[in-house]
Amino acid sequence: MIGASTRLVALLGNPVSHSLSPRIQNAAFRALSVDGVYVALRCEESDVPGLVRGIARAGGAGNFTLPHKEIAARTVDHPSELVRRTGACNTFWLENGLVHGENTDVAGFRGAVEALIGRSAKGLRVLLLGAGGSARGALEGLLADGVGEAWVWNRTPDRARALVAVANDPRVSALDSLGAMAGEPLDLIVNATSLGLRDSDSLPIDLSEVAEPGALLDLVYRPAETPLVRFARTLGIPAADGGEMLVRQGAEAFRLWWGHPAPLQVMQEAMAGSRTAGAGAAGG
Ligand code: NAP
Repeated sequence: MIGASTRLVALLGNPVSHSLSPRIQNAAFRALSVDGVYVALRCEESDVPGLVRGIARAGGAGNFTLPHKEIAARTVDHPSELVRRTGACNTFWLENGLVHGENTDVAGFRGAVEALIGRSAKGLRVLLLGAGGSARGALEGLLADGVGEAWVWNRTPDRARALVAVANDPRVSALDSLGAMAGEPLDLIVNATSLGLRDSDSLPIDLSEVAEPGALLDLVYRPAETPLVRFARTLGIPAADGGEMLVRQGAEAFRLWWGHPAPLQVMQEAMAGSRTAGAGAAGG
């Protein structure tokens, strides 16, 4: 029950009205009887520093979603190594008087890969589509898991090259054209572009252009399966959308706020329930 000691945990973003995180986190809070409430606050970038400091100093904590992950990385007093490397922060809390920040999207991505293929990306050959914030987080996760080789393709090739330059790892290279991958065996394709959010979007990749991958992970999620996931499944390729990543990044944030593991199954059920109810689109 919400009372005088209830801890406020807030999602800061713009827009936030379609976020599934309140549903997933409040189900977890109830399941473990932690004294907290999770709310979504739509706010302007200029209000982020004041809100973060005020909420944290009043005992609260929270998440950031688009477009505030970069300002959040510059705002928190104590960014983690991952926040510094990715330039993006999606989770904050107060510790020893300082606002700490973490990027739990990376853990969420690694957990989603494992849930899809039953193992980590260690040694795998991976094609990563996109070069925005989530592609950067995904690449961090792939490298942390010991990926064998990764190719980054993006609509704007310069951004793919910039991402590869930041990664600065001989296992990672940028592709100007997907045609270069024809015949190259692939274990995993990751879609980190925003294509698939809207019904009118084209597919981010023509799967007939590349060798059939072992699996496909689409970071986009919607109430129903994304067009790319649907297409991959028609070819018999094991595929998943970004729902599991959303749950897993939330589980890692829960652990940081409350100091004990999250009830993962409860969170997965809340996610599945929101699909049945037809709620939500993409976002943290
Ligand atoms: P972002 O930083 O804005 O990057 C968008 C990416 O999509 C860029 O690579 C961009 O290419 C590409 N793109 C956009 N329109 C395109 C088009 N018409 N054709 C080809 N490429 C296009 O966004 P983000 O934060 O990386 O997010 C990407 C997706 O991941 C979103 O759908 C988001 O909801 C999802 N996501 C999911 C989770 C989760 O927990 N499941 C977490 C984070 C993000 P250019 O560089 O050429 O513009």
